[in-house]
Formats: sequence, structure tokens, C-alpha cells
Amino acid sequence: MQYPFKEAKDGVGKAMNSSDDKVLVIHDERMLQHRPDVDERFLPGRLDRRVREILDGLAVKWHYPEHPGRLSAITQRLEANPLPGISFREGRPASNAELARVHTRSYLREIDRLRDQHAWLDVDTTAVSPGSVEAAEVAAGSAIVAVEAIIHGEAQSAFALCRPPGHHAESVRARGFCLFNNVAVAAAHAREALGCERVLVVDWDAHHGNGTQEIFWASPGVMLVDFHRAAPFYPGSGHLTDVGAGLGEGYTVNVPLPGEVGDLGMLRAFREVLVPAADWFQPDLILVSAGFDPHRLDLCMNLTHDGFRNMTRVIQELAAQHCDGRAAFVLEGGYHLDALSQGVRAVLETLAGGSVPELVEPGYPEVEEAAAFHRGAFSEEP
Ligand SMILES: [Zn+2]
Repeated sequence: MQYPFKEAKDGVGKAMNSSDDKVLVIHDERMLQHRPDVDERFLPGRLDRRVREILDGLAVKWHYPEHPGRLSAITQRLEANPLPGISFREGRPASNAELARVHTRSYLREIDRLRDQHAWLDVDTTAVSPGSVEAAEVAAGSAIVAVEAIIHGEAQSAFALCRPPGHHAESVRARGFCLFNNVAVAAAHAREALGCERVLVVDWDAHHGNGTQEIFWASPGVMLVDFHRAAPFYPGSGHLTDVGAGLGEGYTVNVPLPGEVGDLGMLRAFREVLVPAADWFQPDLILVSAGFDPHRLDLCMNLTHDGFRNMTRVIQELAAQHCDGRAAFVLEGGYHLDALSQGVRAVLETLAGGSVPELVEPGYPEVEEAAAFHRGAFSEEP
């Protein structure tokens, strides 16, 4: 079978006019060139020594979990099990001016100086390798391509397969595997270049999107609704009472949840917090920071792929109600390769109109079956 991404690069413009192609996937192999290797010597030396001390104290050898295999697992699964209604397009690097809408010029200069080097950026294991700065520029640019495609009506929805991820990156700081805040760059682009006034960012990654929160803390033009595992889980922010400030007060909505939360709890949070928030905000565009680490195999929360399908359907319904169905998804975390790749596929299938199963508490159907099987044994009736 032909590799679908290669095939799509030529014919995407025409294909997108077909009513069969509702969902655009942005994929770019330059993002595979971000590959920090912990065995390399890193700059700066002092931070390197500090990180080494932490890593040497671990019982198991640590490998950089945000590795190129994450994207490969997704593309291989989509190649092995193609979905109807999906088209593919390459990303592009975000320009300095586009990044500077959410990051300071001095931060961008610092990152630019690290081009082609191995360096730690933060003690919480954000690192760059040769190729990383370009990969990060392409990740942010891919989120922009996704938003442009849906605003221009070339697709109903889009999913940018970004790495490095973005939602921990603050205006002046790389954190948590993130260099540039991809979803924030896309939201700012939508407002400043594409005529959107109110952008809703839904963050369902298991970790709080501290960077997105910091960037739009005082902005009433971008509402962040963030579902995450509660502090002290990394990064430790996202408290219920953190609601934004100044003109942005009320436009940051945090939903801290216990690690035990599963599909039913998350869907209830969507229905009882996200839906009324979106109805009040009236977005003209919805962006999703889509991390797949809430999946139970990633050990942060207790969701299944049916949970992601239901969450995606709620986003679709909100988008249909408020903004002509326009929703763009941006990949954040997710480190268990099967859970991640199946999760992305489940979201794409739902976006393309796939059916969504009703959620039940795991085990309930089996309990009913067992009860029916045994019922006769405890009854005197024939
Ligand atoms: Zn995460």
C-alpha cells in the first residue's frame, strides 16, 4: 500500500473539495528530527550536572519519553488502518513574528542560539538536539496550518500531529518537553490574522496546560477550559480558584480531577463545565490541546478510547452549535504508544462521523450477564 502522507502531498487541494474529506491531518517529518539523547553531553554544563544528579538517582535508566517514535506509531497505525474521510497535508515552520505573538523576542533569540546543539532548557527535562528548533517551529506552524485550513473552509476539522508538544511552554520559558506553545500560537494567529474574536481552547491532556494559562491569563479573547489531574501532579498548577485576572478574569476555567477519574467522570465534567462555559463564551473557533496521557495505560488517569470518542463528540457538537463546526486539534502528550496511536485514530474516526458508543461503568454488562446466569441457582422456581 502507498504511504498515505506521500500520496496526499500532491493532491490535497483537490481532494479537500470532495465532501468525503472532512478531516485534515497535518503531518511533517521534520518533527522527527527533535531527538534529545540523554547519553549526549548537554549545554549548559551546570544544568547538565544537576539533571544528571537527578537521573543518576533513578532506579531505572531514564530515556527521553517524548521521542520520535510517538509520531511514527500514529502514522503507522493510520497507514495500516486507513480511515475514510481523512486527508493529509504537510506543516510549515512558524515565522518569528507568528511565534512572537505569544513568546518574548528575547526567549525566541535564546532558543535560536541553541540551533544544532544538545542543551537542557529546564530541570524538568526539556531538552533540544540538532533539529529540535526547526521541529518546534514546524510544530507551531502545523497548528497554524490546521487553523487556516478550517477557517478557509478546506476542512471541517483538522488534527495537527505536533511534536515537541506545546502546552507547558510559557511566554518566556520552555517546560515539560515543550519549546513553543503550539496551541497558543494557533489561537493568537486565529485572532490576529484570521479574523476570529473568541477562541476557546479545551485542554484535555492529563497535565495542566500551565503555559497556555500563563499566556492568556489576562486575555478575554481566549478562553481556556482545562481538565487535568490535580496538583501536586505535574506541573502542580491549575487550581479551581485560578480563573484569570484583569480583563481575562473568568476566562480561565480549571477542572482539577483525581487520577482515578474515568470516562464517565470526564464526560460529566465536559457536560457540566465545558458546555455551559462554551455557551456563555460563544466561541468562533474551538482548539483542543489533545493529550492522550489520560488513557489508563499511560497511568495518569483512567480513561479509555471510548471516553476520547465521547469527548470528541461533545467538542463537535459545541463547534456545530457555535462556530460552523470549526474545531482544530493539536497533539500534546501521550507516551504509551498503543494508547496514543489508537487514541488519535479514535478521535479522527469520530471527527469523520464515526459512531460513538454510550459509556457504561466498566464491568456492568458482565455483572448483568453473570447475575442472569446465576439467578436460577438461587431460586426455587423452575
Ligand atoms: Zn501530558
